[in-house]
Amino acid sequence: MTNRIVVVSNRVAPVNEGKAAAGGLAVAVLAALRRSGGVWFGWSGEVVAVPDETIRITESGRLSRATLDLSERDYEEYYNRFANATLWPLFHYRVDLVNFDRRTYAGYRRVNADFARKLTGVLRPDDLIWVHDYHLIPLGEELRRLGVRNRIGFFLHTPLPPRELLATLPVHGELMRCFSFFDLVGFQTETDRGHLLDYLVREADARVEEREGGAAVRAFRRTFRVEAHPIGIDTRHVERSAARTENSREVERLQASLGGRRLIIGVDRLDYTKGLPQRFEAFAHLLRAYPRNLNRVSLMQIAPPTRGGVPEYTEIRRTLEELAGHVNGALADFDWVPIRYLNKSFSRRTLFGFLRLAQVGLVTPLRDGMNLVAMEYLAAQRPEDPGVLMLSRFAGATQSLPDALIVNPYDVEGVAKAIQAALTMPLEERRERWRESMHVLRSNSVEVWHRRFVTRLSEA
Ligand code: UDP
Repeated sequence: MTNRIVVVSNRVAPVNEGKAAAGGLAVAVLAALRRSGGVWFGWSGEVVAVPDETIRITESGRLSRATLDLSERDYEEYYNRFANATLWPLFHYRVDLVNFDRRTYAGYRRVNADFARKLTGVLRPDDLIWVHDYHLIPLGEELRRLGVRNRIGFFLHTPLPPRELLATLPVHGELMRCFSFFDLVGFQTETDRGHLLDYLVREADARVEEREGGAAVRAFRRTFRVEAHPIGIDTRHVERSAARTENSREVERLQASLGGRRLIIGVDRLDYTKGLPQRFEAFAHLLRAYPRNLNRVSLMQIAPPTRGGVPEYTEIRRTLEELAGHVNGALADFDWVPIRYLNKSFSRRTLFGFLRLAQVGLVTPLRDGMNLVAMEYLAAQRPEDPGVLMLSRFAGATQSLPDALIVNPYDVEGVAKAIQAALTMPLEERRERWRESMHVLRSNSVEVWHRRFVTRLSEA
């Protein structure tokens, strides 16, 4: 790999691992860029009255971070509204929650144009540009408009819904056309990839030629590739880190607090896509349907709040507080709380130690692009006595982890039954499932994902 890689994402994360960076994209990009070196371009996370025209550059090892600030208006229209209250629910099949407004769409386009303009200031002619996620779908078009001829790739970390749902967005045609300005468009799963191809064929008369590794598409008078490249984690790092954290103060305190009881764990950003109310219901159902679990099993749900500027997030927070309070009020005992519900984030190191302690990992989103926590849970387990991963059939991760216990998160009784099966699963079966899953995670690490995408892009 000789070309410099310039990664562009909405937000450039801090480089320090100790700090909690709750979000799969940041974790993956950082793990990959730290090895290859390159430039990471995007928003600093600061909102200011009048953003500076110049880009701030900070170097850390072989990685430079190039950041810009957003104005109040950009932050509201581009980030809170169009990205997080329009595209996010739409891409997670929640058409009922989509808020569409032409003004915020214009804000989204304006910020993308602004990103493009500022990015040209740091570009070299042979850089490979790799754009990430739904915030920046128009960036390729904006860069081409400014005459940028570099190879540009795009990777969507979220799902892409079927054509019939995409078509509910009044500007779907314009937005989907944006994909054609990239040389390579990557998705988490074959399902998501299929949804774009179906859209392009039926709405834009695309010609699709399936070749090895993906499709060559001709649409909007452009040719580009559409491929599935499922992301991975830094598997070895998580394995080692979880083993090392076993004796940390936090992990020992958690263990002591359990008093020999068993632990079920969930770790998710506080988001309506993660299926948390259904998960709490399923856990309560488990306690009622299998009462021998009373005072013997606790669910610890770590749920750091995000996107406080979007009303639906305030709403889901209230729902969960009520539900957790309700379940605990009804079922707790003087020496035991069924649901430990935590609205805060932890460093990844501590998290891995917690995951290792839990006999069951509950990953039951209603819809999820991939879900890295599922993979981290597996990698954090003790090989001689691993816990059981329960995985929603609607998470991208399920497509590569068939040996997890696959559940339908909408089926509260079914999930309760599966938790009971996980809690009583014989050691041999747990080991077998874990070994199969770990084989997948070790051969498709985040490094392999990164290298594969960049290689495909440089050939595109
Ligand atoms: N994470 C973290 N601290 C927390 C909660 C989560 O560092 O308190 C990390 C977690 O380890 C994982 C990422 O945030 O790597 C979440 O990624 P995932 O794909 O599961 O979900 P997303 O937030 O991207 O929807």
